[in-house]
Amino acid sequence: MKKNIKYLLSLAATLTLTGSYCVANEAKTHTEHWGYTGHNTPEKWGTLSEKFRECGVGLNQSPINITHSLHANLPPLNPDYSHNSKSIVDNGHTIQVNMEAGDTLTVDGITFELKQFHFHSPSENHIEGKSFPLEAHFVHLDKDGNIAVIAVMFQEGAANPELEKIWTNMPNKEGDSKELKLKNIAKALLPQDKHYYRFNGSLTTPPCSEGVRWFVLKQPMSVSKEQIKKFHDDTMHHNNNRPIQPLDARMIVE
Ligand SMILES: [Zn+2]
Repeated sequence: MKKNIKYLLSLAATLTLTGSYCVANEAKTHTEHWGYTGHNTPEKWGTLSEKFRECGVGLNQSPINITHSLHANLPPLNPDYSHNSKSIVDNGHTIQVNMEAGDTLTVDGITFELKQFHFHSPSENHIEGKSFPLEAHFVHLDKDGNIAVIAVMFQEGAANPELEKIWTNMPNKEGDSKELKLKNIAKALLPQDKHYYRFNGSLTTPPCSEGVRWFVLKQPMSVSKEQIKKFHDDTMHHNNNRPIQPLDARMIVE
């Protein structure tokens, strides 16, 4: 799992230096660009770089269609969020809100810290075959670099006032970032009901590293048609969801 820390650190450095999420190595003759449209679509990610191999050959890849889950006595999810957001960035693949340190999620007796959350439209995971217009991923790391993600679905309905605080601050150019201090924003984006599906998966973007603990909340939040349009059409300009991946030997519990 050390590689995850290394990757996230290098990612942070890349973001700081260039504002780009692409793994750019100036010393090389080529840049490992990946995306959702054109030549480097998700189907090709595994062949773009040796570092992205897992995207092509992994057997625990995300996202998935959540179905045939097993009923288990899962403990309540207890995200402890109270800190402010720090900044917002358009990294070319999503809009990401970076968090100040201190928000935690404790699972399996391990404390994970919330680093950032970001959005996909349409949703990446499906629930019983259903796709949602928007999905948020809350990305947590433990001290060893293990990753836990809480996913929240959004369904079309009333405008979401908390989302609006982010949307009005969205950079509209790839690589742009700015300071964004929003109080309690992560907590406000989660539903009251924290029942969830749990499974093992991966990052849904290159390098598609596996060993990620996924917690998909069952209760969707609301997002208006205009808010979906502002993210999908006006900011991303295309879908930014990886297609669903085979479940293979995995189990989903709820
Ligand atoms: Zn994501």
